[in-house]
Amino acid sequence: MSPEPTNQKRGLLERLDQGPVICAEGYLFELERRGYLQAGAFVPEVVLEHPLAVDQLHREFVRAGSDVVEALTYYAHREKLRMIGKEDVLEQLNRQALQIARSVAADYDVLVAGDICNTNVYAAGDRASEEAVAKMFDEQVAWATDAGVDFIVAETFSFLGEALLALKAIRRAGLPSVVTLAIHKEGTLRDGHSPEAACRALEDAGADVVGLNCARGPATMLPLLERIRQTCTGRLAALPVPYRTRPEEPTFQSLTDPGMSDLPGGRSFPTALDPFVCTRYEIADFAKKAWALGVRYQGVCCGAGPHHIRSMAEALGKTPAAGRFSADMSKHYALGTDARLKAHNIDFAKQL
Ligand SMILES: [Zn+2]
Repeated sequence: MSPEPTNQKRGLLERLDQGPVICAEGYLFELERRGYLQAGAFVPEVVLEHPLAVDQLHREFVRAGSDVVEALTYYAHREKLRMIGKEDVLEQLNRQALQIARSVAADYDVLVAGDICNTNVYAAGDRASEEAVAKMFDEQVAWATDAGVDFIVAETFSFLGEALLALKAIRRAGLPSVVTLAIHKEGTLRDGHSPEAACRALEDAGADVVGLNCARGPATMLPLLERIRQTCTGRLAALPVPYRTRPEEPTFQSLTDPGMSDLPGGRSFPTALDPFVCTRYEIADFAKKAWALGVRYQGVCCGAGPHHIRSMAEALGKTPAAGRFSADMSKHYALGTDARLKAHNIDFAKQL
């Protein structure tokens, strides 16, 4: 009998059985802010044009506590590339994104995830669209499988039917799956299912982890997670956007800013959401509440910065490398408590 390997990397399901797994998302928004891709189409051309920018952001998220390097193949599918007239670089872009993720993950004890998402081609009840979508998933999943990913994330689906097609493609490849849904204003999937019924259907169809990502902030995602927990028996995922959504405006696309009347497109989404950004403490609070519900796979989606991921990681008991620089105000010149600080500055604190 051969001995158990001791240096083998633990897989996703094993890690989830042992504790929380954090997956940083939101690459498109962060790279848009940094000037490497365009809001609107949101196609990750940065992968080919500035691969070091993607590499660096992966590393920042891992330093902040992400247990997963998610290849930046979100919106790198055939329909999106066609939309910007670059279908010819589809495969090259996918393979390069996967290679960048792999090379970063090789430097840490983290997992590599492939990523597929809503195609914008799917139309409920349209067989031709279902076949086209299945083909798009199969080609992306095949590139991810070639790259040796540990599992595949299928995300931001607003049709259960499309999410099920994505799950089937992942299962055909024999890889673990995390399938997450984006729930828009009306609170149901576009094909009429409740979030909890859709998650249950995905679980019954063999998804390893099911849940929600994107669209909703912590405050309007948590109530849905409670219902999903009551309906599903397996592993759950939650990756909200870091924005202060509320019942009247439950999604980041629906947020309105009374102080701004002439925004492009008449709404804050996607480039004027700054006034709504959650603090890292609100993300920590979400992480603890979701964990208490039994949500073991967590992350933050569009809008997330490394500080949000670090806060989530620390709230869940992890000690990320960047935690070395988590706030300690005791040595602040005026607000601190350190005995070496100058008394005249401490006295000045009330005037700050
Ligand atoms: Zn998102």
